[in-house]
Amino acid sequence: MALQAQEILKKYFGYDEFRPQQEEIIQKVVSGKDVLVLMPTGGGKSMCYQVPALMREGTCIVVSPLISLMKDQVDALKTNGIAAAYLNSSQSYKQQQDILEACYKNEIALLYVSPEKLISELAMITQMTRPSMFAIDEAHCISAWGHDFRPEYIQLGLLRNRFPDIPFVALTATADKVTRKDIIKQLDLKNPETFISSFNRKNLSLDVRIGIKPKQKMAEIISFIKGHKEESGIIYCMSRSRCEEVASSLNDAGITVAFYHAGMSADSRSKVQEDFLNDEVQVVCATIAFGMGIDKSNVRWVIHFNLPKNMEGYYQEIGRAGRDGLPSETILYYNYADLQMLNKFAAESGQSEINLEKLKRMQNYAEADICRRKILLNYFSENLEENCGNCDICHNPRQHFDGTVLVQKALSAIARMNEKEGATMVIDVLRGSMKAEVVEAGYDKLKTHGAGAGISAFDWQRYLMQMLNLGILEMAYDENFALKITDYGKHILFGQRRAELTILPVLQTKEKSKAARVPAKSNQEDALFDELKRIRRQFSVEEEVPAYVIFSDTTLREMAKYRPVTYRDMLTITGVGEHKLEKYGKTFMATIDEFMRR
Ligand code: ADP
Ligand code: ZN
Repeated sequence: MALQAQEILKKYFGYDEFRPQQEEIIQKVVSGKDVLVLMPTGGGKSMCYQVPALMREGTCIVVSPLISLMKDQVDALKTNGIAAAYLNSSQSYKQQQDILEACYKNEIALLYVSPEKLISELAMITQMTRPSMFAIDEAHCISAWGHDFRPEYIQLGLLRNRFPDIPFVALTATADKVTRKDIIKQLDLKNPETFISSFNRKNLSLDVRIGIKPKQKMAEIISFIKGHKEESGIIYCMSRSRCEEVASSLNDAGITVAFYHAGMSADSRSKVQEDFLNDEVQVVCATIAFGMGIDKSNVRWVIHFNLPKNMEGYYQEIGRAGRDGLPSETILYYNYADLQMLNKFAAESGQSEINLEKLKRMQNYAEADICRRKILLNYFSENLEENCGNCDICHNPRQHFDGTVLVQKALSAIARMNEKEGATMVIDVLRGSMKAEVVEAGYDKLKTHGAGAGISAFDWQRYLMQMLNLGILEMAYDENFALKITDYGKHILFGQRRAELTILPVLQTKEKSKAARVPAKSNQEDALFDELKRIRRQFSVEEEVPAYVIFSDTTLREMAKYRPVTYRDMLTITGVGEHKLEKYGKTFMATIDEFMRR
């Protein structure tokens, strides 16, 4: 063991210090122990196996589910001067043989491989590589309780038995308690130590906007973006068509925007990513696939145009904002129609029970009337003692009232319609509508017809959502979303129990902009930063790797600030290791030097 962990961090990655827990995890793995690592996206999981891989004899086998990400990760390692390769079925037989040969000659420190490839050719791969350790990335994929179950992960369970003496590192960004236990069981980890980093990202504000109509939503978003000039942001949408629609509305409003979804060719998708990374488009409208593995540190805001399916996805998506630690905003739009749609998807999915339950937790979050960060962290088994002060509820605390009578009106109407109708009809009846459907069904004759005329349809919708959330009502997604009264609801209807509701918060329109949220940088620094990005771009095109593989934004920012023009100074910049110094240092220093002479 020639180099110590700390030296490796500096020499290869150009970083001075480990982040919390990284070093401890690395020591455990190097000494042969199994570990489970739970860190939020961007937390620095890869370091936890990449450093040990350079400290142990043999090849570290990294199991990774996404072939497209594999290539980027390997490219990133190579630009740091680390011998890495990947194996997957897109390669020719010859290419695969060459790689295995190189492993055999001890020339590869890390080999990335998809789970199906590893399992189907286990004997050959392990004979050639003599594994030093296994790293199972995205380990939650092995659990049916996780949010992204992949059947091909299941077979990884046989590895532990087959290789009793080498360490396993399981890594994930999203695993609740149940999933965590399941990962350990499925992978058969030996007395693993579990490391959980804090999921609290204090710099992200949390805001939920309930029941906003589509047209107003669009107008709000446009004005929000115009108030955030030149600040990158992502809008997540439920469907491909919605992505394109939103992008087109923003485009009409004069905003530079692109859309990104799985229906596009790989080429157009990487073009969008690239343009976004290089700040050539300000906004990307995307489905959930966008942002996986991209390392853009200056995303200033994330908007959810629709409700996400689960908390894991939501957390991961908002987590793409503010990786540089500067204040960033997140907004979630939530309405009844989305909830209906998602309930339907979940009910029809392969694992309806789990997916419905996960959706329910998402709904609870969106409808919460206590500090949202508490709920969010609680979901990841973390407790926050104090209210966060950076969410819409902390800014605008909710109050309650005795809603028994109001609830009884709704329940009575629902009961008289034999629990056969959905929310829209229930609201029409409560408000005394004389619409054709109402009259045809004879609902205008009901005693409760018009009993809730004093409350607007919009507010009724929000009250019904509260009742769903409180377990007073249930939605029968398999009966056209008919509203049903639960046992608890019946107690309220018959006056045996009372119902406490939340006073509906007044929806304010979003303020246009917050001045000086992000510390101002000098124009000079910005100009040099742009110049450095241009150089980075040239390298990235030449080498056919994403820009961040060359240098991250944070690294370029530091260069623009400190303007290193000697090798020694250049090495002090975060993210500049010896290999990158040799490869790119000269060009970047020349650019800086020239800039300063102007
Ligand atoms: P994830 O947990 O999402 O896999 P990564 O391993 O990709 O995160 O790390 C996110 C970013 O943080 C990368 O750019 C990585 O190089 C950087 N990073 C990791 N560890 C450190 C460290 N100790 N100091 C500085 N930057 C680090
Ligand atoms: Zn809060």
